[in-house]
Amino acid sequence: MDPLDPGAGVPLGELAGGIALGLQIYAFVWGAVWGSFINVVIHRVPLGASLVHPPSACAACGARIRWFDNIPIVSYLALRGRCRACGSGYSPRYMLVELLCGVLSLALFRALAVPIGGLDPLIDAAWQWLWLQTFVYGLVAITFIDLEHLYIPDEISIGGLMLGLAGAHFLPVEAPQDHTLGALAGAGFLGLVWAVGWVVYRREAMGLGDVKLLAMIGAFLGWRALPFVLFAAAVQALIATLLARLYTAATGKAAGLTLSTAELDAHFDEEGRYDEGLPEHTAIPFGPFLALAGIEALFFGGDLLWAAAEAINRALLGQ
Ligand SMILES: [Zn+2]
Repeated sequence: MDPLDPGAGVPLGELAGGIALGLQIYAFVWGAVWGSFINVVIHRVPLGASLVHPPSACAACGARIRWFDNIPIVSYLALRGRCRACGSGYSPRYMLVELLCGVLSLALFRALAVPIGGLDPLIDAAWQWLWLQTFVYGLVAITFIDLEHLYIPDEISIGGLMLGLAGAHFLPVEAPQDHTLGALAGAGFLGLVWAVGWVVYRREAMGLGDVKLLAMIGAFLGWRALPFVLFAAAVQALIATLLARLYTAATGKAAGLTLSTAELDAHFDEEGRYDEGLPEHTAIPFGPFLALAGIEALFFGGDLLWAAAEAINRALLGQ
């Protein structure tokens, strides 16, 4: 059930201070470098462009971004988020994604701890670390693409689903069948919601992208995590919607938060891709909340569910 169970691992704190600190700095830098690549994914996958060619260039003036201006986080801060050639500003999203991936890599590293007692547990933990990184970086990419384009690329959700199942079956993960079942249950449950919306309202109640995303989350976390993921995603989406409405009421900046599906449909082409202008109102996609809940389930899900079950148990039994 718990992919983060360190197994033979020992807490980092038991390692000599210098080594533990050095390894953690390494884990953060490693993640930030991947964050730099995830920025390319977020920018290019929705355009259908190659991830490796051409090399990064300024969107405003076309100047090539040199390697020393492409150092994660550091370059953004040194250039104050501007192009060295033309001075036009870059979105803080670039640095945010690099920071986020660095922090997630470090958090995974700390959770998996450093196993001692032979080479094999060390190699297992390293693979587990890499495997779960593909999960969290995939969720980061999906979040920012869905926020901007209101769709989730299959390359990432289906690709992630495959990686999730492959890892669960080839790595020493407890109960790999839970992960196969997780992918099926995730696709099945939201697929049913989608189908009911289609039959009853003749409209998509939610995107098929969300169905594939929940299948990917189920593949990585196993089916037991799914009730928490759905619940946490729904609650947080509701809170965000309420906050956005309060913001609208206070500033009058947008007439309303949600669009009728007809209004929304006008902004999508036949293949369901977002293709035209920004809607007048703000639409909040569900994908980022599923992704957020997936990360929460990875780090806290088991504990939170366990604590809740214990509380309910105590209340019912009066113990
Ligand atoms: Zn420029």
